[in-house]
Amino acid sequence: MAKKIAILGTGGTIAGVGPAGGAGYTAAQLGVEQLVAQVPALARAAPGGLLLEQVAQVDSKDMTTVLWQRLAQRCLALMGDPQVGGIVVTHGTDTLEETAWVLHELLGQGKPVVLTCAMRPATALAPDGPQNLLDAVTLAAHPLARGVLAVVAGVVHGAREVTKAHPLRLDAFASNDAGPVGWVELGAVRWARVPAGDGTARHAALAARLPDAPWPRVEIVLSHAGADGAVVDWMVAGGVRGIVVAATGNGTLHEALAQALERAQAAGVAVRVATRCPLGRMQAPDGARWRDARGLSPVKARISLMLELMEAARAPGAA
Ligand code: ASP
Repeated sequence: MAKKIAILGTGGTIAGVGPAGGAGYTAAQLGVEQLVAQVPALARAAPGGLLLEQVAQVDSKDMTTVLWQRLAQRCLALMGDPQVGGIVVTHGTDTLEETAWVLHELLGQGKPVVLTCAMRPATALAPDGPQNLLDAVTLAAHPLARGVLAVVAGVVHGAREVTKAHPLRLDAFASNDAGPVGWVELGAVRWARVPAGDGTARHAALAARLPDAPWPRVEIVLSHAGADGAVVDWMVAGGVRGIVVAATGNGTLHEALAQALERAQAAGVAVRVATRCPLGRMQAPDGARWRDARGLSPVKARISLMLELMEAARAPGAA
């Protein structure tokens, strides 16, 4: 028997409202029931029925760890419900890739969790949200779909690769070198590579017991011409727990910034190096002074470091 698809609303432009056909709008205004009401074809895409829940109502530029925690916990509960076959999350475009990554790290490759969004508000002359929502439900209901995916403008992306690459275009998202996981075309999923589904989340144990406390403070610093590292010293004085540095090229850093990061590391701050290059994967040289970010973009590396620090705080013997 077909299972239910849960749709969790979190806001974003997909739920945005503005003057009909006009440029300005306010994100996160329509509830998930209103979004679903715009797409009668959802009944066919989810023959087992839909479960609708409003988890948040935010412009995703203002996403918080508190909302991530609430969303992850709702996803976990729904993944444990045998009547639910998959989950769709409607989200803003600005931080979609971050939410995709935090859910991937916490939930892993079990039942599909498909994020979608829109570049135009629901009141636009030709809104893109309804088609994206239909594609997301189609994908979440597909028997081969696993883990955290995103579908935007008919293109399916994996959580590790997905990134917002354009500020305005309807197909604003890219998977860069890796290429898309697949496409949703005329109501059917065409896979470029089928998601692996190994069932393991890097932070599954943490997901079940996320602490009811602020997440450790981790900041991102950019290495650029003229960087002097003063910002790192301010962060350390302010109690930062981790720093991800968006380095030039293959992890190279301005020497003044590198010296400040060494002072930070000596003071107990965790440092990770990611590259600011959008393509390729950094190859850390042997004997590198810093741990590299496992090929993650700086924003995703920041999430992984926050989770690592929380995991370490839970470990036996941790203070
Ligand atoms: N600022 C909006 C958001 O991320 C942009 C969008 O959804 O396209 O919620």
